[in-house]
Amino acid sequence: MQVFKSGTEWQKSWLQALKTNKTIGFVPTMGALHKGHLELIRASKKSTDLTVVSIFVNPIQFTNQEDFEKYPVLTSQDLELLQKEKVDFVFLPSQESIYPEKPILNFNFGNLERVLEGEFRPGHFSGVGIIVSKLFNIIRPNIAFFGQKDLQQVAIIKKVVQDLSFPLKLHIVPTIREKDGLALSSRNMRLSVQEREKALILYNSLEFAKNELLTNKDWLAVRKQMMLSFEAEPLAKLEYFELVHPETFQVFEEFERGKKSSICVASFIGNIRLIDNLPIIP
Ligand code: AMP
Repeated sequence: MQVFKSGTEWQKSWLQALKTNKTIGFVPTMGALHKGHLELIRASKKSTDLTVVSIFVNPIQFTNQEDFEKYPVLTSQDLELLQKEKVDFVFLPSQESIYPEKPILNFNFGNLERVLEGEFRPGHFSGVGIIVSKLFNIIRPNIAFFGQKDLQQVAIIKKVVQDLSFPLKLHIVPTIREKDGLALSSRNMRLSVQEREKALILYNSLEFAKNELLTNKDWLAVRKQMMLSFEAEPLAKLEYFELVHPETFQVFEEFERGKKSSICVASFIGNIRLIDNLPIIP
């Protein structure tokens, strides 16, 4: 496994891959790796010749300074995991090399960023668009791998690739969960034992609402019921619980069979903000 810290270092390996007709799979991460990340890496190793994993905590996508400062950094543990997974390359850039200056460029994703994550984290998706574009330009992969766990981010990245004609394919991996259903996330390690228990409210509410919808219950009534259940949990602070089209993020007021739809939720558990989603009609 080769660790590189700059685009120039990577260029030699990239040229070599090009000369030998090897395909490059790319898995961008913010580190503190868990089994969700490993699933993306395994998908990349299965379908490409060389896998590059990047670890970079992107400051410009954080809308809360404390969340950025407290984001777990576990580089040596991550490198050990990546070695075990037989990853070919790890990109570990410094903040200064990625952002010699704060970018003045801003992405505007229109409707996609006016709802859900976009509404509650203004500027977040512009930060995601910028880092993903930078990383695609540096790594120049054939296929990039992302998780369905961040459903709205997937929609944003699809737009970036399409609108800027990045010559690569996207491969989306379903959400990996703990045995009890909690979606794996680097932020879970910041939950106390009690918060970890209460965090299950996200997955449980998604599953409950999905079953209600599939037995023809009215969406707005189900949503109201779920909002009340979050209100009744003192450690939870719900931000949204919405039924949306998984690509356009149009927010639905009713459930229609035959129409692609997913339920998305975001809630604080204590001080930790968690998100999750469940496809109803994929
Ligand atoms: P992050 O390090 O949180 O920025 O995540 C890096 C990539 O891993 C993103 O594409 C995420 O969507 C994906 N990811 C994070 N958690 C999970 C999970 N539980 N299941 C599948 N993919 C995930």
